[in-house]
Amino acid sequence: MRQDHVEPHQRRSARVDAGAGRLRGPRLFDAVLLDRDGTLVHDVPYNGDPEKVRALPGAREALDRLRAAGLRLAVVTNQSGLARGLFTEAQLAAVHARVEDLLGPFDAWLVCPHDDGAGCGCRKPAPGLVHAAARALGTTPARCVLVGDIGRDVTAALAAGAQAVLVPTPVTRREEVDAAPWVAADLPGAVGEILRRQAAVDPAAHPGSSASYPGSSGPVGRDGRAATGGPTADRRSGTVLVVRADSAGDVLVTGPGIRAVAAHARRVVLLCGPRGRAAAELLPGVDEIVEHRLPWIDPDPGPVDPADIAALTGRLAAVGADEAVVFTSFHQSPLPLALLLRTAGVARISAISDDYPGSLLDVRHRVPVGVPEPERALSLAAAAGYPLPDHDEPALRLRAVPPPVQAPGYVVLHPGSAASARACPPQVAAGIARALAGAGYRVLVTGGPDEREVTARVAGDVAVDLGGGTDLAELAGVVAGAAAVVVGNTGPAHLAAAYGVPVVSLFAPTVPFGQWGPWRVPTVRLGDPSAPCRDTRAAACPVPGHPCLSRVEPREVLGALRLLGVTPQPVPRPALAASAPASAAGPAVPAPVASAAGSGR
Ligand SMILES: [Zn+2]
Repeated sequence: MRQDHVEPHQRRSARVDAGAGRLRGPRLFDAVLLDRDGTLVHDVPYNGDPEKVRALPGAREALDRLRAAGLRLAVVTNQSGLARGLFTEAQLAAVHARVEDLLGPFDAWLVCPHDDGAGCGCRKPAPGLVHAAARALGTTPARCVLVGDIGRDVTAALAAGAQAVLVPTPVTRREEVDAAPWVAADLPGAVGEILRRQAAVDPAAHPGSSASYPGSSGPVGRDGRAATGGPTADRRSGTVLVVRADSAGDVLVTGPGIRAVAAHARRVVLLCGPRGRAAAELLPGVDEIVEHRLPWIDPDPGPVDPADIAALTGRLAAVGADEAVVFTSFHQSPLPLALLLRTAGVARISAISDDYPGSLLDVRHRVPVGVPEPERALSLAAAAGYPLPDHDEPALRLRAVPPPVQAPGYVVLHPGSAASARACPPQVAAGIARALAGAGYRVLVTGGPDEREVTARVAGDVAVDLGGGTDLAELAGVVAGAAAVVVGNTGPAHLAAAYGVPVVSLFAPTVPFGQWGPWRVPTVRLGDPSAPCRDTRAAACPVPGHPCLSRVEPREVLGALRLLGVTPQPVPRPALAASAPASAAGPAVPAPVASAAGSGR
């Protein structure tokens, strides 16, 4: 059995790259974690007989593709048959040896031998096996993606801050499929997507996959010649105009893409809308901000005014940009702005567009629905010739913000959202506040100036009401000091992701969770993923009673915090806790078995 234990301090400098044996720049995934039964092999309940091991179709070839790409592999599996005495350690080892005979070697095996009654931290959906696998592989959960066939696998991965792909079988429940951030037909399909996503943000490392998604034109000049400085070029541009014209959360998730551009440009000017201005000021890498309301992006636009368009074109020309990278969401078009940029004389324009762009774009990039928004932005930047540099990490990041006024260790509850379809109903949030306070958590309720009434009602006499009392930077400071944030699909969820603060996500399914959920941070998703508002993109809930979130039970939030390892810290502790992320390693409970097979082989 090949197991590598790399201490945390060694990880920073030495990147794991089993395949090529070279240090690599930032990329999404170092490792793929695999559930065993129903994902790698046919599920034979409590199997202790190697003769009964049968690989799923295409599994060997799929795993070999991952190995060839330099990804490390670990199996993470619940085997409560051990606790129940249904098979022995030796039988389990024989089964795992047979799995390796059929599927090739794994770099680590992580087994939970407990049953549900043990209260261990490793039995999925608890995240302990994911943490242990990441440690064994010398990486972090954020750089792992787990493939599994049931909701427990997905929950464990997300609670550790890893990503997850569900490969449903006939026994997978519909709501588990609906709740998953990402669904593939089978293991080979999941592997194809993992490698495609990896290549999309790092095309130079995957020369065979430069057209990372079908339909991308790549960096091609308007005349059809390859544009100077493709994705592999190490060049330094002059002024690049980057664009993200909608709300705070949208601007925050574009941050990694903007950082990638900034790493290669002398000057970065960000064009944003008024709703995104405060978030734009938090982004590293932005040298100047131009604020303008774009009538084809703003959710509450006025009529198009020719004088206003002329003024905007003039402002864009005055920026003196050598090129522009227009970031959009999947339901927005970059083309109206591209026309103005052309009119303003910008020589090279890159954007994601499914619509035919004619001569408006030099780099027309395409991304399928469901890819996380920050990855979408990173892949556009990479396609435009601006990969995230080696020293940066694919993660949300913000400039320094004011420190929180409260002693750390509290839980932030943010009930509101600019789009009411994504807001937590006040009576539900009030119940959550009472339950949290009753369990010993210190609760801070946050909200914008127009949400004061709601935050006062939610806080009642059990929580601190900060509603309307913070600007976005101050709110970011409050979030940064939190042990966890309970929030819908709205800006503060992305603030939490930027600070590595675990999120209990009250996620209305109006847009895909995989695309808009908190990125690369420990997360538990709550709310009905199958509610009728699913994929409607509605700003106001189209369903009477707002059923996706109105049925969230306070005890579910308490369970989510337990899963995240966030315990009540009712008495403010001295300053030593100031910078410690509170997610921690979870409770002291029975530990996983690190290896159950093959060590003598
Ligand atoms: Zn366990």
